[in-house]
Amino acid sequence: MSSSRDLALSILQKTYGYRSFRGEQAEVIEHVNSGRHTFVLMPTGGGKSLCYQIPALCREGVGVVISPLIALMQDQVDALTQLGVKAAAINSSMTAASIEKTKKLIRAGELDLVYVAPERLLMDDFLALLHQSKIALFAIDEAHCVSQWGHDFRPHYTQLAVLAEQFPTVPRLALTATADKPTRKDIVERLHLAEGRTFVAGFDRPNIHYSIQLKSSAQKQILQFIKESHPRDSGIVYCLSRKMTEETAAWLVTQGCKALPYHAGMEAEDRARNQTRFLREDNIIMVATIAFGMGIDKPDVRFVAHMNIPKNIEAYYQETGRAGRDGLPANALMLYSMQDAVMQRDFIEKSEAPDAQKRIERQKLSALLGLCEAASCRRKIVLEYFGDSGEPCGNCDTCLSPPITFDGTVAAQKALSCAYRTEQRFGVGYLIDVLLGKEDERIQRFGHDKVSTFGIGKEYAQSEWQSIFRQLVALNLLTVDGSEFGGLKMTPQGQAFLKQKETLHLRKFMGKAKAATPRQARTVIAFDDENDGELFAAMKTARLELAREQNVPPYVIFHDRTLRELAIHKPRSLAAMSQISGVGEKKMERYGDTFLQVIAEHS
Ligand code: ADP
Ligand code: ZN
Repeated sequence: MSSSRDLALSILQKTYGYRSFRGEQAEVIEHVNSGRHTFVLMPTGGGKSLCYQIPALCREGVGVVISPLIALMQDQVDALTQLGVKAAAINSSMTAASIEKTKKLIRAGELDLVYVAPERLLMDDFLALLHQSKIALFAIDEAHCVSQWGHDFRPHYTQLAVLAEQFPTVPRLALTATADKPTRKDIVERLHLAEGRTFVAGFDRPNIHYSIQLKSSAQKQILQFIKESHPRDSGIVYCLSRKMTEETAAWLVTQGCKALPYHAGMEAEDRARNQTRFLREDNIIMVATIAFGMGIDKPDVRFVAHMNIPKNIEAYYQETGRAGRDGLPANALMLYSMQDAVMQRDFIEKSEAPDAQKRIERQKLSALLGLCEAASCRRKIVLEYFGDSGEPCGNCDTCLSPPITFDGTVAAQKALSCAYRTEQRFGVGYLIDVLLGKEDERIQRFGHDKVSTFGIGKEYAQSEWQSIFRQLVALNLLTVDGSEFGGLKMTPQGQAFLKQKETLHLRKFMGKAKAATPRQARTVIAFDDENDGELFAAMKTARLELAREQNVPPYVIFHDRTLRELAIHKPRSLAAMSQISGVGEKKMERYGDTFLQVIAEHS
């Protein structure tokens, strides 16, 4: 047993250049090395890849990695090749000759790792090849794709049950960063992992600063955020529609940002080109629909901004999780509005999903709205949603500038009664007009100037009422009915609230100006000494050149984290350099002299 640990540790140090295992990596690796099945739930950036890569290197045979995104396999293969690991990918973008070559290597036992899409794995000839070869393990990456409860169901994934039938003695390792309880159960059942062990790391991403703002002018808010907090960083801006990605990207370019659009409606070629630029160049902003991002393991994405609310908390967690994989500080900003909530609700109602699924999705949306209107720590709410507990984090907007609350009991009663008295089919704007006693042709036509709630809400301004209504929806006392008018209906909880007359504390509306300038985490990679910052920049330039020569992303040469350590410690010899985290044997051989020279020139 301990010799398996020693072997794993020596691979970690020599091949990867890392000092020690993180979290439960060592336990997972030992478990897989002993031939057992495993389910690993670890946050993005937690270090899942090593959990299968190192066992694949320890065990005899090839490690087969099943991953849904062929576009990103090559980067993973490139990163492994840089480390001196024998890795390859097989997918439809490759020539028949290169596929044949890789297959030969597999059969001959000359590969450590091979990446394939599930469609490929399930082909008869590929399964036959695997039967003729020695297999170290099967790693099923993005394992939530197996489950209909997950947020990215892929039918081919369900057929991976064949692995258990055809290769019962080969250890199976399922990995994901997002799976709630039903999804986890589904993964374990469908991949037959019950007799194995489940490792669940906490979900927390402490280096990500969360902030959620009311939307006033989305593009301007995003621009201000980029200019103030991320003037020279890579980041992702998520939009709801294709059109909006194009418009926002074009607009950001006019404002001096290096922004590119990405959505499923673009020509495959343009899409691939933009993705490659995002991965290979420094400081690009990708303005994308959610078609972009899964499997992107660019470690130095410094921010993720949402122009609209995401679908639910899982999606929010996963999308924001693409920031700060390298563990350095990163920002997640979400803009939201009632209109967004109405739109998401509309998507749910118009979808083809069965009623049971729609019900779940409505609940999930309502949990997300609760997060948006929360007066307490955002991180705590997200973590509790996934079943983790924790203390207020001190690194989110509500922790850093706690909102003021007020007794909103009477206001809530008025708002709910107003919806009730007007037959529960009108949207926020109309209800507020009734509460404010507006003279309005529509209100008069429906006779709502005669109802008892007409004009009883004059103590609050329109924007204050909007905030109150958003919170009532977020608290699930009111719900959007899903019609295009966004009519508000009372929920059973809303009825109970009116009956029981409980006290309700609400967030005080602070005005748009204040909401638009929250305290952001500073995420520019910081140096105490300015000279170190210059050295860091010089090393980034050297890195970009090396990356261009080999046509690989810069971070597969060295991560920012490694460059930062190099800039601070300024090693003068290869021996000293090998002490820096991320400098393994192969990389020292190949790049050591180049970086030593940059350091020498700067001292
Ligand atoms: P995940 O797949 O879980 O999102 P990765 O496997 O991509 O995470 O790892 C995230 C980052 O952390 C990578 O840059 C990886 O090289 C680094 N990393 C992983 N394990 C360790 C470790 N034990 N020590 C230092 N860095 C690590
Ligand atoms: Zn917090």
